[in-house]
Amino acid sequence: LRLYSSLPLSQTITLPSGQSYEQPTGLFINGEFVKSLQHKTFEVINPSTEEEICHVYEARADDVDLAVDAAHKAFHSEWSHCDPGVRGKYLLDLADLMEANKDTLAAIESMDNGKALPMAQGDVGLVINYLRYCAGWSDKLSGKVIDTGSNYFNYIKREPIGVCGQIIPWNFPLLMWSWKIGPALAAGNTVVLKTAESTPLSALYAAKLAQEVGIPKGVINIVSGFGKITGEAISTHPKIKKVAFTGSTATGKHIMKAAADSNLKKVTLELGGKSPNIVFNDADVKKAVQNLIVGIFYNSGEVCCAGSRVFIQEGIYDEVLEQFKAAAEQLKVGNPFEEGVFQGAQTSQQQLTKILGYVDSGKQEGATLITGGERLGTKGYFVKPTIFADVKPEMKIYSEEIFGPFAVVTKFKTADEVIELANDSEYGLAAGIHTTSLDTATYVANKLEAGTVWINTFNDFHPAIPFGGFKQSGIGREMGEQAFENYTQWKAVRIGINNGPQ
Ligand code: NAD
Repeated sequence: LRLYSSLPLSQTITLPSGQSYEQPTGLFINGEFVKSLQHKTFEVINPSTEEEICHVYEARADDVDLAVDAAHKAFHSEWSHCDPGVRGKYLLDLADLMEANKDTLAAIESMDNGKALPMAQGDVGLVINYLRYCAGWSDKLSGKVIDTGSNYFNYIKREPIGVCGQIIPWNFPLLMWSWKIGPALAAGNTVVLKTAESTPLSALYAAKLAQEVGIPKGVINIVSGFGKITGEAISTHPKIKKVAFTGSTATGKHIMKAAADSNLKKVTLELGGKSPNIVFNDADVKKAVQNLIVGIFYNSGEVCCAGSRVFIQEGIYDEVLEQFKAAAEQLKVGNPFEEGVFQGAQTSQQQLTKILGYVDSGKQEGATLITGGERLGTKGYFVKPTIFADVKPEMKIYSEEIFGPFAVVTKFKTADEVIELANDSEYGLAAGIHTTSLDTATYVANKLEAGTVWINTFNDFHPAIPFGGFKQSGIGREMGEQAFENYTQWKAVRIGINNGPQ
């Protein structure tokens, strides 16, 4: 941390692609980019080069107070009372402007997070689609009339909750921004959102686009900062009515306690996972192997629902493992902006160290390293796609979330055996099944403890399909119609009409 009071509120940055753009560096509060009250800033690093990109202002509790006040005022103005279609139109305009700026947004994301450019381009496409999907819901969140006999007229309606605190991680900075902001705004809430300390840039740029389309002041507030200071100020704030968090299970538990102790905020959590990806003897091997690759190496393995536990049935075990290894070794790892690169850098030094620590742990506990297991190069946080086989449930690499390009492979005999193995986890975010038998697919899907089950596909998202966890993988759902349950509350109105006409 440095004191950097002279830091301007925006900086010209040259992207690795050669293009230059203006990066906002201030906090986004009440529709303006501002310096933090204490003028503290922090450094943002490009994980592919380990070089500094820029500094951004850091929000502390007093800045969060200002952001909450702005959001509170905006909530009680037109925003929560207007024709909901007006809010939808703002989201459509924002989606259009993001589309016009999609190349810049993708390049910022790739530079800041380290992910390969095509992955970032895919994220931006999902963001645009999701904002449009939320816009569509804005004027369709209707209530009901409930008949209880002729002496009463009853209706129930959905109302927004108020100021929502939103805390997001670094693996999909812009996508998580949209998953949080889209439904909150469509339903009439206002937000104070904290980005992850390692990836603040795309959210600030998106805030500038929100400002350009004229989203009213105070509806969106972005506070860059650290978990223990800015995040804590959000989860304990008495005027924030709801907190939505994506990140680790440990931090999620902490936030839930803080939310309860402060003012019993409503809480939604999207947390960790150790998702099983299961290949049966009758699977289409080529497709199954592609889905194993996408399952664990997509986004450098920094995916909460990554198919990190691979189970292969004994009849095709050797064949699938051999093809999985060959396909992993063909993946191009390196500079996210280079043509053909599939896997970029891990987001931080901390993640690199964590992943390499699990490589040591796997070797010590007697698993067999099939491929990878080491850093690539000496500059940038690159890790070779890693596969361990002969992995047993008692090993740490089998049960703990690693959050990197790191698959553990286990052999199984029967469907019932693999169901038991798959469910033997504190997590329950997602699961994959690869088979050509409808019976096997549905039998296993019904028994898996997971919020999402992918059959003959993996890491496959759609705005209309809800996403979230069973067990310790979370509370509540994002996307789909279900996301709006997290951002509205029901009001029941019961009118006595027993006196009849006067
Ligand atoms: P984290 O959960 O601590 O951080 C996620 C977000 O929470 C960040 O914005 C962070 O600043 C904030 N935060 C941290 N402590 C907080 C607190 N006390 N109060 C409020 N907000 C707080 O995750 P991390 O430390 O960046 O990564 C650790 C591990 O978490 C990773 O290795 C990975 O296993 C897991 N993770 C999971 C996801 C996911 O999508 N499920 C995302 C990121 C990390």
